[in-house]
Amino acid sequence: MSRPIHAYLDWAALRHNHARVRQVANHSNIWSVIKANAYGHRVLSVARALQKVTNGFALIELDSAIALRKAGIRQPILLLEGFYQPDELPLLAKWELTPVLHALWQVDALIAAPLRLPVYLKLDTGMHRLGFTAAEFENVLARLEAAGCATSITVMTHFADADEDRGIAAQMSHLHSMINGREFPLSLANSAALLRFPESQADWVRPGIMLYGASPFPTRQSAAELDLRPVMTLASELISVRDITAGNRVGYGGTFVAEQPMRIGIVACGYADGYPRHAPTGTPVLVAGQRTRTLGRVSMDKLCVDLTGLEKVGAGEAVTLWGEGLPADDVATAAGTVAYELFCALAPRVPIIEV
Ligand code: PLP
Repeated sequence: MSRPIHAYLDWAALRHNHARVRQVANHSNIWSVIKANAYGHRVLSVARALQKVTNGFALIELDSAIALRKAGIRQPILLLEGFYQPDELPLLAKWELTPVLHALWQVDALIAAPLRLPVYLKLDTGMHRLGFTAAEFENVLARLEAAGCATSITVMTHFADADEDRGIAAQMSHLHSMINGREFPLSLANSAALLRFPESQADWVRPGIMLYGASPFPTRQSAAELDLRPVMTLASELISVRDITAGNRVGYGGTFVAEQPMRIGIVACGYADGYPRHAPTGTPVLVAGQRTRTLGRVSMDKLCVDLTGLEKVGAGEAVTLWGEGLPADDVATAAGTVAYELFCALAPRVPIIEV
């Protein structure tokens, strides 16, 4: 018998969420963002599930991009951080991968290669992480034009606050002043921006988290309110049920102390499966389809749950850690993190079942 923990991946839900992007950004092409192993959802399977409906795939890992090509994925592929070493450039040409250039050394390397490629130029409009300043942008445009090595130039930027009160206005205005009336194809919007600020949708949107069925702004609108469906469901079972008395401490450090006699369950899921260790007592969990809470510290392979009101359940009862019936956003919020981190942390030891 194997350990009773599985991650179910629902490709119909993924395609539904992609269709939502299409519906909301109905004049834009879609780069489906599949970096970090498709936010923990298995990059090759996600690409296969979306290849007939999406316009392209965006990621940062060159090895994954080449694996997609070898698996027969023919859509455009965008490398969101371009390349990290000049000697990767011939691979980009060979496998038809489009780099995002964000630093002057990358432009130097491309001109020196010399290769002809379509390129994206990333502008720093206020996030101050990657991208060209206004002066660098002018310099890069002039040099690429003189060298003739860009077969096309698309301008992109990334928003720091599309999910926050600050919004995108300052970055949009900075972008337009940098472009200064010139006509470039544009790619600006992540999930939060394309949903909240239609004016940012432009030629290519770049949704990630909404494809996987979580809300990009869970405190404003839930995934269900946005008509997004969970793709990943992390499911396990109770492997032990026990009655404890008032004063009993539960788990490492005894951080939960029972105030009265109660029944608790032990779930085969811990931080080595990707469940956040910092999830405190009270993090929501579903047992037999009913919402209850975790108790005490999360261990490597186990966590404890409150079975008050669920006295009839026994070992073998179904538990949902997040997904269908329990939004990952609710778990993430309780644990002080974001659904992105929960998904990306899914551990390789958890068997996947594709549905
Ligand atoms: N574009 C870029 C450059 C990104 O780094 C990311 C993800 O962080 C995305 C788009 C997708 O963002 P989201 O998952 O919030 O839609």
